[in-house]
Amino acid sequence: MSKLDWVTQEIESLKTAGLYNRIRTIESPQGAWLVVDGKKVINFCSNNYLGLANHPDIVAAARKSVDEMGVGPAAVRSIAGTMSLHVELEKRLAQFKGVEAVITFQSGFAANLATIPALVGKEDVIFSDRLNHASIIDGCRLSGAKIVAYEHNDVKSLEEQIKANLSQFRRALIVTDGVFSMDGDIAPLPAIYEVAQKYDILLMVDDAHGEGVLGNGGRGIVDHFGLHGKVDVEVGTLSKAFGVVGGLVAGKAVIIEWLRQRGRPFLFSSAVTVPDAAACLAAVDLLEDSTQLVDKLWANGRYFKAEMATLGFNTGVSETPITPVMLGEAPLAQQFSRELFDAGVFAMALGFPTVPQGKARIRVMISAAHSRDDLDKGLEAFQQVGKKLGVIA
Ligand SMILES: *Cc1c(COP(=O)(O)O)cnc(C)c1O
Repeated sequence: MSKLDWVTQEIESLKTAGLYNRIRTIESPQGAWLVVDGKKVINFCSNNYLGLANHPDIVAAARKSVDEMGVGPAAVRSIAGTMSLHVELEKRLAQFKGVEAVITFQSGFAANLATIPALVGKEDVIFSDRLNHASIIDGCRLSGAKIVAYEHNDVKSLEEQIKANLSQFRRALIVTDGVFSMDGDIAPLPAIYEVAQKYDILLMVDDAHGEGVLGNGGRGIVDHFGLHGKVDVEVGTLSKAFGVVGGLVAGKAVIIEWLRQRGRPFLFSSAVTVPDAAACLAAVDLLEDSTQLVDKLWANGRYFKAEMATLGFNTGVSETPITPVMLGEAPLAQQFSRELFDAGVFAMALGFPTVPQGKARIRVMISAAHSRDDLDKGLEAFQQVGKKLGVIA
């Protein structure tokens, strides 16, 4: 026996259960098509909602910035000074989103780890949607606050938990995903806001999959619901629709100022690189110029979902371009994904613990980069594999 035997055994049991994740290698730029493990396939996997990850204007902006400013920021912003590009990005994002201020982080994950422990601590309570993203859960754990989960998107359950717990704590925070990425459903933010108002509780939404997708021209979930100035903290990511990398927190100036003083990933970890920041700025330019890409994304999503339903697939409860194809057990979902790949379609299977047991699925990520022809080729492959595996008639 060696002290690492348990790791080998755990890995083996993942493989037996069909839950072992084999990560494929992408050998081309991001786009509607990819070269994956040497094979050209339609890309139904990435969060590149607007096709910005390899957009010529954004690539050009990144290249120019490197010529002018180099690559690395070389230290954390709070100690060695912050580069003008990062400051400019925060200003432009705040204007774009119509908020008082924005602070950026290295990732959406880091934004959650920074924000939650800065707002609540050991004497406090967090009301958290049961299906919140891992980075929210980790941020909550890191804060040391009592975590009370409420039923998914269930405002009644939220209020019950508040009534049962609130009086025993100093402060409270309600936190929810904006778009739940496994199902594509949207948090009922107006009703959650009413409850937060009623009990005077801080409200935070993590809009990673809504940033650049929901709202007018991709301004996010707060804009989508017309809740400007009402949600205390809006977390977003620059690594999905924005096509680059990074995270952001948008909201009232006093909260952003506090995060600059107390957000640990801001204080103790370097910022994104020069070309990252320049690319994000170029993405803001594009989104401010036109809603065309966001409109195309939604049109593509509506088309694909409707056609999948016609073929007889169960596409769940999605309200966004995210299209889950519900299959049940993980081994079936994995086999479906492999057969799709053979048919020239790259779409990943998701199983436990990413989604609940028995709710394994293929998740199709639609993008504005897809042409109608790309979507039709994808639909054809789904039909062929679905029939072969007995999922549709
Ligand atoms: C993807 C995601 C994150 C992480 O964003 P990164 O920028 O990739 O770190 C955080 N929260 C939610 C809800 C997400 O979907």
